[in-house]
Amino acid sequence: MLIDQEKCNGCGICVPYCPVGAISVSGKKASIDLDICAECGTCGRRYIVKCPTGAIYDDPNLFETERGISKYFSDPMTTHKVTKIPGRGTEEVKTNDVTGRVKRGEIGVALEMGRPCLGTTLAEVQKVTTALARIGIVWEHMSPLSHIMDDPANGTFPARRLGLRMISCIIEFTAPAERLEAILTEVRRVAKELDTVFSLDLITRYDPDGRIPVREDVEKLGFTVRPNAKINLGLGRPLSEV
Ligand code: SF4
Ligand code: SF4
Repeated sequence: MLIDQEKCNGCGICVPYCPVGAISVSGKKASIDLDICAECGTCGRRYIVKCPTGAIYDDPNLFETERGISKYFSDPMTTHKVTKIPGRGTEEVKTNDVTGRVKRGEIGVALEMGRPCLGTTLAEVQKVTTALARIGIVWEHMSPLSHIMDDPANGTFPARRLGLRMISCIIEFTAPAERLEAILTEVRRVAKELDTVFSLDLITRYDPDGRIPVREDVEKLGFTVRPNAKINLGLGRPLSEV
């Protein structure tokens, strides 16, 4: 987003709405620090931020620049150009009732890096993707992250993109259930190197008798299992049965 310096009166109304503190007022003019802005679009939503002069506007050339990538990860009102999925470009492996990505005998993993008020950068994401690539993880194709890697086998991104900021980036993949220990061990190791927060989602299908197949294994590894964390109903789209 950008602020028209001719129109801005420096009232400061927009400042507290930015989730990462990228807007500041100086000399009676507001400006956006583009090194901090994650392109979430919040400040430009006129039904939320009542800018009295209409000074905040979308960069018309955003998607011709690298910054357009940030918008796909930060703005839920955007539809991803490759996956064609609105709302940050992924249906997310954690909504398995809808996507049906995780089959029996598999686990799905979603690492949700960065949250509002903190966010993350692609450099932080790369710490995780390179670590997981070393143990042979293959990335979810219908995820915006897969489309900006330059070397998926090594989990790397082009160097020019590493500074890009995003509100939240979801690293998604599925793997055979027997890889559980290797994956969680690597996640725990790399977590100590991260300069952001993340949530770890583990997705598995219930056994017919209601048991959660990998629960005991996860607990043996020292993780607290919270099976009530998020259960999405299929909303009439039972693709998991396909
Ligand atoms: S709300 Fe509008 S006029 Fe007020 S500081 Fe922000 S951009 Fe400027
Ligand atoms: S687009 Fe989002 S991150 Fe960027 S300045 Fe506006 S509110 Fe802040």
